[in-house]
Amino acid sequence: MRFVIAVMRHETNTFSPLPTVLEDFGRGMSGGPSTGAEAVRAMAGTNNPIAAFLDIARARGAEAVVPIAANASPSGKVTDDAFEAIAGRILAAIGDGCDAALLDLHGAMVTESFDDGEGELLRRIRELAPGLPVAVALDFHTNLTAAMMDNADVITGYRTYPHVDMYETGERAGRTLMRMLDGEVRPVMAWKSLPMLTHMLRQTPSTQPMKDIMDRAIAAEAGGEVLNASLFGGFPLADIPHVGLSAVVVSDGDAHAAEDLRDELLRTAWTRRADFVFPLEPMADSIARAAAMTEGPVVLADHGDNTGAGGNQDVMAVLAEVMRQDLPDVAAGPFWDPEAVARMHAAGVGAELTLSIGGRTDMPALGLKGEPLQVTGRVKTLSDGRFTVTGPMMTGMELGIGRTAVLETAHVEILVSERRMEPFDLGIFTHAGIDPRSKRYILIKSRQHFRAGFEPIAKEIVLVAGPGVCSSDYDLFPFRNLRRPIYPLDEDLQAM
Ligand SMILES: [Zn+2]
Repeated sequence: MRFVIAVMRHETNTFSPLPTVLEDFGRGMSGGPSTGAEAVRAMAGTNNPIAAFLDIARARGAEAVVPIAANASPSGKVTDDAFEAIAGRILAAIGDGCDAALLDLHGAMVTESFDDGEGELLRRIRELAPGLPVAVALDFHTNLTAAMMDNADVITGYRTYPHVDMYETGERAGRTLMRMLDGEVRPVMAWKSLPMLTHMLRQTPSTQPMKDIMDRAIAAEAGGEVLNASLFGGFPLADIPHVGLSAVVVSDGDAHAAEDLRDELLRTAWTRRADFVFPLEPMADSIARAAAMTEGPVVLADHGDNTGAGGNQDVMAVLAEVMRQDLPDVAAGPFWDPEAVARMHAAGVGAELTLSIGGRTDMPALGLKGEPLQVTGRVKTLSDGRFTVTGPMMTGMELGIGRTAVLETAHVEILVSERRMEPFDLGIFTHAGIDPRSKRYILIKSRQHFRAGFEPIAKEIVLVAGPGVCSSDYDLFPFRNLRRPIYPLDEDLQAM
């Protein structure tokens, strides 16, 4: 038996000014996506769906062909060149002949030409190999579409946010597909997407309103009521028609059972729609609230410029406010600024410098200009930016954020990097000689994933609404292509 196993993951923020090119698909490493044995080496044994697919293939004695593992940090639309290169490799491998495809996709990829990158890939696969069994593991932030559903046999999604169950999600999709190959089950899927623009800060299944909806899906699957049941919070920062909260249920030949559970899950979510709206606190008020906290570490999470949702990672407004209110003993970063990194590497450890940091990117979709921050300090450390994840998300993966440098001022240690990555593991600071456990304040650009590595060490967490292309204030976004009406932009609508 021969399985084609591949990764194509990107969450596209269509308001981001940064296009996503092929080189970006090496998740934090330079050189772009990996292929073949190199991809297996990088991904096997890690907490990712592909690692489960590889284990399943090995357990069956099947040959695993890995044409590509392409995973990029969230950013703007994927270029046609990048999409065609990635999809082309996957299609070529399938064209060579195989017995099944197991795909580790995101579910919120937008390309220059396609609003639904995953749907387009799956459509082409089915066209090339009709009847080929296809299983797909998707991110919790999937904006589910008919093209994805019509061209796959089994779809499952992460059940956690931060995403710490990636391996398990691959295992769930792969297991059902193997049972299908063995003639044991006949998967049928039911799905629906609700017109709901949920706030990402209100989506996590670890708390309400999502918790017991997800718990119900988990129980239905665990109890054998259905083969798989998944809920997706959706990715709201994309100006495309299919944004929404959705569910997909896979049953064994029983369409009604799948539809009934789908409706039960979505009806509960719709009833609670007001609870998926996040109440905003002004940035300066959040910092002032943090300033009154005497025991650290206090995590300040700037969720308006979160690379994990497509932020530039170079908006300096929150750090400027932290310095204006004179918070002591702060570690901040990483801020994306290759030029500042180059200047500090050229100057060397110990050098005193006055630098412009960040603010190099304008954000025309939201009418925002990049504003660098002038800082004077001493170069504390320089590094190659590589570290191995020890926390619960993507455990075991070797990551890199390009070269890094730390500029130390009287109250702040500022970490600057050549590449962008949302901080979800302490290694992002420790590799550069900063121990976040010992700081009073840790300022990071993240919305939810920081909780994987940083929540266990945090005394307090303060969410800070900084400016940027992943602002939680939807009134700032010039949405033109969403389906309308959609909640909460249009309050009075009946979806269920
Ligand atoms: Zn996600």
